[in-house]
Amino acid sequence: MADDCIFCRIAAGKIPAHVVYQDESACAFLDVNPLVAGHTLLIPAKHYERLEDIPSEEAARYLANLPRIIATVTHVMDAEGATVAWNDGPVAGQEVPHVHAHIVPRHAKDGVGPIHSLFSGRARLPPEETERIADRMSRALRPRLR
Ligand SMILES: [Zn+2]
Repeated sequence: MADDCIFCRIAAGKIPAHVVYQDESACAFLDVNPLVAGHTLLIPAKHYERLEDIPSEEAARYLANLPRIIATVTHVMDAEGATVAWNDGPVAGQEVPHVHAHIVPRHAKDGVGPIHSLFSGRARLPPEETERIADRMSRALRPRLR
């Protein structure tokens, strides 16, 4: 636990919050500044600043909670869907440096666009640039057997 981290302190019960779920891997609680009613955050129990910092098996245990949390938020808020997002890193808008998924219930005609609406346009890449990017990523992601 990071003593100066507000989310670690919530998970440890040292700061009051509306915790709706908690196990040894994860903690879910209502956002104190909700975008809409029912806006919920799901954090890994341990302090990790970025998603890429979480060891795979721990990430799996953290993320195993996500479908049930989404289903519950959607059901309880009588929503038709949810926007689920991580702002990964300050440049993406992450304000608390402890990984957290936003689960925001969505309703028909709520006037909010998809995550795509964050961007004004689309990248128009030549096919060879797309090919180069895919090649670099697949090389970096290649399983390392030994
Ligand atoms: Zn923390």
